[in-house]
Amino acid sequence: MTLALVAMAAMASCGEGSKGKLPAYLDDTKSIETRIDDALKRMTLTEKIDMLHAQSKFSSPGVPRLGIPEVWTTDGPHGIREEVMWDEWYGAGWTNDSCTAFPALTCLAATWDPRMAALYGKSIGEEARYRGKNILLGPGVNIYRTPLNGRNFEYMGEDPFLASRLVVPYVRGVQDQGVAACVKHFALNNQEIDRAFINVSVSDRALYEIYLPAFRAAVEEGGAWAIMGSYNRYKEQFCCHNEYLLNDILKGEWGFDGVVVSDWGGTHDTREAALNGLDLEFGTWNDPSGWSSSDSYENYFMALPLQKLVEEGEIPESVVDDKVRRILRLIFRTSMDRSRPFGSFASPEHFAAARTIAEAGIVLLKNGAGDGSGATAFNGEPILPLDPAGTGTILVVGENAAHPMTIGGGSSSLKAKYEISPLEGLRARFGERVRYMRGYASDADSLSIIEPLAEVVAAAAGAEAVVFIGGLNKDPGQDCEADDRASMALPYGQDALIKALAEANPRTAVVIVSGNAVEMPWKDRVAAIVQGWYLGSEAGNALAAVLSGDVNPSGKLPFTYYSSLADCGAHVLGDYPGADHRESYMDDIWVGYRYTDKKGEGASPNFPFGHGLSYTTFEYSDIDGDKDVVAVDGTVRISVRVRNTGKCVGSEVVQLYIGDNHASVARPVKELKGFEKVTLKPGQSKRVTFTVTPDALSFFDEEHHRWTLEKGNFTAFVGASASDIRGLVEFSVL
Ligand code: BGC
Repeated sequence: MTLALVAMAAMASCGEGSKGKLPAYLDDTKSIETRIDDALKRMTLTEKIDMLHAQSKFSSPGVPRLGIPEVWTTDGPHGIREEVMWDEWYGAGWTNDSCTAFPALTCLAATWDPRMAALYGKSIGEEARYRGKNILLGPGVNIYRTPLNGRNFEYMGEDPFLASRLVVPYVRGVQDQGVAACVKHFALNNQEIDRAFINVSVSDRALYEIYLPAFRAAVEEGGAWAIMGSYNRYKEQFCCHNEYLLNDILKGEWGFDGVVVSDWGGTHDTREAALNGLDLEFGTWNDPSGWSSSDSYENYFMALPLQKLVEEGEIPESVVDDKVRRILRLIFRTSMDRSRPFGSFASPEHFAAARTIAEAGIVLLKNGAGDGSGATAFNGEPILPLDPAGTGTILVVGENAAHPMTIGGGSSSLKAKYEISPLEGLRARFGERVRYMRGYASDADSLSIIEPLAEVVAAAAGAEAVVFIGGLNKDPGQDCEADDRASMALPYGQDALIKALAEANPRTAVVIVSGNAVEMPWKDRVAAIVQGWYLGSEAGNALAAVLSGDVNPSGKLPFTYYSSLADCGAHVLGDYPGADHRESYMDDIWVGYRYTDKKGEGASPNFPFGHGLSYTTFEYSDIDGDKDVVAVDGTVRISVRVRNTGKCVGSEVVQLYIGDNHASVARPVKELKGFEKVTLKPGQSKRVTFTVTPDALSFFDEEHHRWTLEKGNFTAFVGASASDIRGLVEFSVL
């Protein structure tokens, strides 16, 4: 129906005559709130109820009679998912839905660059818009609490400040395209084991200081138009209809005016859903008559059962109206905003953006001796970058050199227009010099096609350099939704293979493709280690650019790279993965480097949070504060001069951590409160200045339920990682 006809229909149905002026809800010179009021007045209860639940796997109805469009959601968060059948998860077989695969969000987090997050948000928002979606199911900002979580690759690491600074530009970038970002999974969904039922107990302090800040930033600063409730429970209530999380915190404390969407199948009760903050129900199955019955959507908790409760006077219609208002608001902000852009899809610009983000997120963990990461038995010179002008063989070993990584992993799986494998990227850059041997296999069926170890070792011994490309993949039990990893070790016998390669050729570099830390019993034996993430469509080109030195690596770890689970608070202090559907986060605020610092000398992660090397070197000097005494509501500026002391242009992420010297509660030694990525030519220097506000000094006071700043002495730590601190500044708050 054209807009004019819709308007006439709406006018006729409301007795305004066919020649009257445009009804208010269609008049975009009027405010959104006025339009909502007007639309709501015209709707029947049935039409309202219809809006509150799915009509298909990924859509919900609008108001067809009034020309108010359907809501179309899409996964998320790394690209726009292929179209699926109306009632099913599987693909509909369209030929025009092959998207750009962007790097996984761990890679985005590893860029430590809000400009990259803005580029990501804009690009994926344009893709969603082009495909006619008005809700993108992402980004994910659950905190990396254990390296076993199968979905860490979809999130932004262990630190609430880092995740907050990155989620805001992502959300804005998406929403500038007239597409709602749906930030997920709210909240405390930090593992996949038993995710549908586990009841998480956590202190208010850890909740507010660790697990909520990125969601809060997405809402308060990013202005997110939607949020997704998580599957798990908190305070014995499912998070999709959780009084504390949704009514009190999200809609109350943070003033969220958008739509709370359930995770798919995360709704369990009509009354709770209605009263505890859920607005839009997806993915429920409760029709006993069969999987694909056409009327099943009417049986959703927020469909006929809710209508009945309203008609019986058990639940006031105003409760329904509030939800409808929120959904209408989202529609007016997206599909009924006539001024929104048209979007673009699988364009050269998007593939270029994917490559730029991938290149900026790859982390060089180790490169020869003297890398600052601890003792190493390899005493050679850095072996990276590999010289593109060389002539010797580069032996590439490992299944992940040629394994598609945009497919699998659960709901973030993509039908990418293309994906350049690491092997293809290396061949394009180094040509005939590249020889490939698979070396190991992830599935029993292909064991027969892997070469005998002796052959691989002999080839390695004769090569100029060996590049092992392995890690995890997107199969169940690896980096994949719905389960966690069984252990932190590398699967498929990779450890033994890496050791054999390193023994045969000291010029062995290891590239780990994963979204999680893996154990590295061979760390001291290999010459170089690169964290390669899941890099999307341009994976191979980005990796080859870094390995060849065309791009100087500048990524930094968004999580602590534990050497074993004994370094991880969730495993040492907590009772991960819980039992009898219950788990207690006894690790409290001691997550990631906060636990490493608490443990002190006893902690020995392979690589610290914030760590990442470059092909150049940076010197930090003149670390200073603009004052050493400040009022409670005042600010302190901490500055540092950073100089590129090497031979090539490079980027460094300068990090600021703050510690409270004495407090009435146990506080972390230090917490990230500022960072800036600066690009410097050889010899060039720049002064980086951070402004420390009272927020950065406060802790969450559980007794009074508020953020509190205690007077006293604080320390600012400036450094290149959480354990590579280059200078301190002390100041007092009076
Ligand atoms: C996942 C969500 C996803 C949804 C729709 C759920 O299983 O937890 O992240 O957006 O499915 O695919």
